[in-house]
Amino acid sequence: MVKAVVGANWGDEGKGKITDMLAQDADIVIRFQGGANAGHTIVNKYGKFALHTLPSGVFYDHVTNIIGNGVALNIPKVMDEIKGIVDRGVPMPKLKISNRAQIVMPYHILFDQYEEERLGGKSFGSTKSGIAPFYSDKYAKIGFQVSELFDEDTLKDKVQSVLAVKNILLENLYHKPAIDPAELLETLHGYRDMVAPYVADVSKFLWDAEKEGKIILLEGQLGTLKDPDHGIYPMVTSSSTLAAYGAIGAGIPPYAIKQVVTVCKAYSSAVGAGAFVSEIFGDEADELRRRGGDGGEYGATTGRPRRMGWFDCVASKYGCRLQGTTDVAFTVLDVLGYLDEIPVCTGYEINGKVTDEFPVTVELEKAKPVLETLPGWKCDIRGIKKYEDLPENCRNYIEFIEKRIGFPITMISNGPSRDDIIYR
Ligand code: GDP
Repeated sequence: MVKAVVGANWGDEGKGKITDMLAQDADIVIRFQGGANAGHTIVNKYGKFALHTLPSGVFYDHVTNIIGNGVALNIPKVMDEIKGIVDRGVPMPKLKISNRAQIVMPYHILFDQYEEERLGGKSFGSTKSGIAPFYSDKYAKIGFQVSELFDEDTLKDKVQSVLAVKNILLENLYHKPAIDPAELLETLHGYRDMVAPYVADVSKFLWDAEKEGKIILLEGQLGTLKDPDHGIYPMVTSSSTLAAYGAIGAGIPPYAIKQVVTVCKAYSSAVGAGAFVSEIFGDEADELRRRGGDGGEYGATTGRPRRMGWFDCVASKYGCRLQGTTDVAFTVLDVLGYLDEIPVCTGYEINGKVTDEFPVTVELEKAKPVLETLPGWKCDIRGIKKYEDLPENCRNYIEFIEKRIGFPITMISNGPSRDDIIYR
């Protein structure tokens, strides 16, 4: 039985916490897309951790963690991450890395930086982790699969032929030094030795596990609005953030995905450039940013202050629909306890017309938020375990949003740790 945990919006919805929570009863947790460019924050008995590529099941010894073929695999980063958690007392996680995963090469990171420099003010707000150049090469069929590290002749030839093109770009487009093939080959030998203990035929392992009735979690990175097809193109990420892609990025049958838990945060935040209709600014934004998440809304990977906004019913309804949501997990609700009144974006006004359907990017750029204001509950809701025990205005906020987005909110997260959860 496969469940997916994915985001409805721009990412940072609290997927890490929800995955960590659901992993208590899971056998396998899989990352199926993205790379080390975003992060999940998890608070548990070992402390507070920011995971970038490792699946959120790494804190449990009963969980097998998998980095699927859809992931942009930065091998030294994954090794650092393993070391980072083990050094802090977490037992060595059970980890398998797909033999079909492709490798983030050192030049992907360079190209990402150089391209952002070249674009200047017109950049996409990349985290410069090499993700866009990585996926470009994957689809241009000049990427390196993990399995290729173990075939010396193929590797040597490919390094030569790929660098022939990369070096022309480096020297002539970016005016930077060329890469020496022998040096790159040496680096790749290092990668091979690091990754060797983890390499596996992941799709076969998952096929067998599914047959045996194991509980398998797919862990998404970012959210619907960053999907390259259905998101706010071109201000998107380079791999699909949708639950459906879990089937491809892990190598499982699409019909195996029985539950899609879409995580929605009780207010909005976004990183990077792009239209953000319910965005707020100034003191109002600063206060929400400072109080948000667990210790403020700053990027888990980059430390960048996140852009803040009110809950956006238009974007979230769309975000949940594209994920194929069966359950909504509504998170970080406790943070809103300080507000007298809470604005919610219920529509977009585009060229004088109001809509509640999320538009294509060219229309989105023109959208102005239509806000409705709900009364706040003015108290701390952390520690509450039963839905009925939430203040009435708080329940009204949840029910108002549930009705607007049209998908059932079955979990409410009222604090950063595993047990801060109300089932409904
Ligand atoms: P992810 O990438 O979707 O996992 O999101 P983040 O790692 O950015 O998580 C959002 C932040 O909110 C993290 O700092 C979490 O520890 C924190 N968090 C998650 N759920 C809750 C919650 O219900 N309440 C509070 N206060 N913080 C939460």
